[in-house]
Amino acid sequence: MTFSLHGLAVSSGIAIGRAQLISHAALEVAQFQFHEKDIPGELKRLDAAVAAVTADFEALRAEAGSAGNPRELVAFVDLHAMILADPVLTDGVRALIEERHCNAEWALVQQMQEAMAQFDAFEDVYLRERKYDVAQVVERVLRVLQGKPRRVSRRKEAVEAELIVVANDLSPADTLQFKNQRIGGFVTDLGSATSHTAIVARSFDIPAVVGLRDARALIKDDDVLILDGVRGVLIVDPDARILDEYRLRKTALELERSKRLRLKTARSVTLDGEEIVLEANIELPPDAERALAVGAAGIGLFRTEFLFMNRDDLPTEDEQFEAYRQVVKQFAGKPVTIRSLDIGADKEVRALRSRTAESVACNSALGLRAIRFCLTEPQLFLTQLRAILRAAHYGRVKLLIPMLAHVQQIEQTLALIEQAKAQLAASRHKFDESIAIGAMIEIPAAALMLGPFLRRLDFLSIGTNDLIQYTLAIDRADSAVAHLYDPLHPAVLQLIGKTLQAGRQAGVPVALCGEMAGDSKLTRLLLGMGLREFSMHPAQILEAKQQVLMADISRLEPLVAKLLRLDEPDKLRALVARL
Ligand code: PEP
Ligand code: MG
Repeated sequence: MTFSLHGLAVSSGIAIGRAQLISHAALEVAQFQFHEKDIPGELKRLDAAVAAVTADFEALRAEAGSAGNPRELVAFVDLHAMILADPVLTDGVRALIEERHCNAEWALVQQMQEAMAQFDAFEDVYLRERKYDVAQVVERVLRVLQGKPRRVSRRKEAVEAELIVVANDLSPADTLQFKNQRIGGFVTDLGSATSHTAIVARSFDIPAVVGLRDARALIKDDDVLILDGVRGVLIVDPDARILDEYRLRKTALELERSKRLRLKTARSVTLDGEEIVLEANIELPPDAERALAVGAAGIGLFRTEFLFMNRDDLPTEDEQFEAYRQVVKQFAGKPVTIRSLDIGADKEVRALRSRTAESVACNSALGLRAIRFCLTEPQLFLTQLRAILRAAHYGRVKLLIPMLAHVQQIEQTLALIEQAKAQLAASRHKFDESIAIGAMIEIPAAALMLGPFLRRLDFLSIGTNDLIQYTLAIDRADSAVAHLYDPLHPAVLQLIGKTLQAGRQAGVPVALCGEMAGDSKLTRLLLGMGLREFSMHPAQILEAKQQVLMADISRLEPLVAKLLRLDEPDKLRALVARL
């Protein structure tokens, strides 16, 4: 039966494919012990379930192997069949049934948890990720045991075989683990458009919708899905007519996208001759390639905390230096803005868990995050600063500090940067003595008190994701209040406008690197407000350039000035749409 679910579109495009559920099997099983005489019966039940799933995999493999399907799909089915055939999994379950008289479902879940913990211990990220495969295999067996076998789709029509990940919720670190896999799209029950999970999903450049509420419960593995990342809609089990319609829309979108590629080398300049800088946000060094492929003018935000995730230790100074230098060299003289560690809130670093834990127990978005954390851990901060300063020797690096709000924090940070330089000089390392230092403006207090920032720093970058969160007191990761998270709230626009104006008057460049920068519906508004430096996901750069090329700032400025005087959101929104 066809049905649709509506959520928040976080990354545009259309995917047509099959559901790949991220398992929460452990939450769903009954747990009981039975009498010794029932052991053979329980083992038989287990064997029958395993046999049924093995047969399912064979059928799926035959289907996946048909012409036109990506190789990944066959490999994915093979891997799952292998996990199921591995006696380590089934022997452990049998032992729990025989020795502890656990029901088969409970035994399976216990064995799954043990296996997942073992995978967690692997250094290698790829191997660690395999724990999700174990969970998915176990979930299939559980469903058979529970009398809810997974339907193996044997549809005759050729359904595109992309995999669409369906999850209840994922941390940014979890999401990052999918980066190297070929996935067609991404949906989650929870989350909001500027949560870091959404930001990571967006960086995959595949359609993603979050905040769907019940997707995980209503969708089964292998269900055919259409994911419309433009409208924030997920269509489950579509009929042939809807599929045809969406195939056409998908082709049209892809055509538009490939046409936009022609803009890669076009100068980013408005109709009235203003040069606009369009830079890229990246999470990891390999993202730099995508930024170059769309002609990014530089890196406006390198979120270095992602180098610290999905590992049990901290990256050393040399390891960080190599990662930063790789990007700096790729950008050969173009600016690379490296932000110092911004962990805390939803961005968890395993190796630092105990040091941020107290804060996590409270409202972590207001806790020991970003620079506040770094100032309490000077050795860790100095290590990163030295790595950035050394990488800066190889190109044009700007150092960006997140979450500054107090004058003392600026001063302490500058003192630590000087200390890092002195340490490098003493150890005869090459580094950039005159590196540009800037602050994220993402706390309302900073936007309201720009003087010390403008006097002490070389540049500013507005982080609207957090600025909106703190101005409106809306947790950016909480789907329950996502509808109140409003970039066009007049108070937010005032803070952005004031920051741009103050920067212009002081001759200090101000960029904007929050998600607002990449929303092409807001490009004209931001140009009219005075923004000249945008930093966004690489996938958004060419669409933004298209907007820049059609914009006439001298026409936009008076309209925007009028619009900013409005305090009625509906009127304001209508005017923004007409700009
Ligand atoms: C922001 O807050 O707008 C920002 C760019 O930083 P992050 O999303 O990493 O918090
Ligand atoms: Mg931020």
